[in-house]
Amino acid sequence: MAAHTAPDLFERERGVLDRAQRAHADPSPAIIHLALAELIGEYERVIRDMRRVISHSDRTELELNIANQRLRELTEALSYQNRHDGLTRLLNRNTLIHEAESLLRHLPIALILLDIDHFKQINDRYGHPTGDKVLVALADTMKQGIGNAGFCGRLGGEEFAVVLPAEHFDTAMETAMETAAQLRERIRHIRLPEEVGLRVTASLSVALAEPTVPFDLLYQCVDDGLYRAKHDGRDRIEVISDSLKPAV
Ligand code: GH3
Ligand code: MG
Ligand code: MG
Repeated sequence: MAAHTAPDLFERERGVLDRAQRAHADPSPAIIHLALAELIGEYERVIRDMRRVISHSDRTELELNIANQRLRELTEALSYQNRHDGLTRLLNRNTLIHEAESLLRHLPIALILLDIDHFKQINDRYGHPTGDKVLVALADTMKQGIGNAGFCGRLGGEEFAVVLPAEHFDTAMETAMETAAQLRERIRHIRLPEEVGLRVTASLSVALAEPTVPFDLLYQCVDDGLYRAKHDGRDRIEVISDSLKPAV
């Protein structure tokens, strides 16, 4: 079997160098001149090749940068979609619960649940697209009402939640109650320009938990409170006045 020999990629350059070395050993001006001319020509060719490689790699780098930027944007968009509700752009249920659970490991938190009253009737009377607009308006109202004090999310349908981390436990319940009262009031003032007669009210429930209380327990407690607020006539706030404490 014939032995495989790798092609000599630098055959040309080696030839030029070899002839230059022979010219150096036999320094006749004509031969040196020829060898120099050949060396200069070779040098220029190598520079040209290098320039081509460099400009090509520049282009490749530019293309890579654009692709990287696009990938970053797509990743950010995907991560946003994964964390937010598509209609209201509030945090979605999973994200809100996950973030509330993380906080509650170290800090007391107040949880407010909020459910729009008779929302089915709003849909029935004004149509589903108007119902959607009410949900968006309510989400905006919540965001404005809460500001930097905490965060809110859509748990599903017409049910929302507010999480208020509490640095100062003593005033946390009072702050949460004020926030809930202010939200209820703001919601009563929601108006849609195209449906001037449309009115929105919501029922709310508030509770406070000390650090390390399981979030599920807090959620269950506030959810029971919301049920009572509905049962007692809606458009009201049920306050669970005793804060939840960790089991000893
Ligand atoms: P309650 O006062 O007891 O809370 O009554 P309700 O009518 O608000 O509650 P119910 O659970 O009977 O109905 C909720 C309605 O919300 C039913 C459902 O079609 C509607 N809904 C859920 N998600 C959306 C949505 O994304 N857009 C719209 N327009 N409607 C929705
Ligand atoms: Mg409802
Ligand atoms: Mg509901």
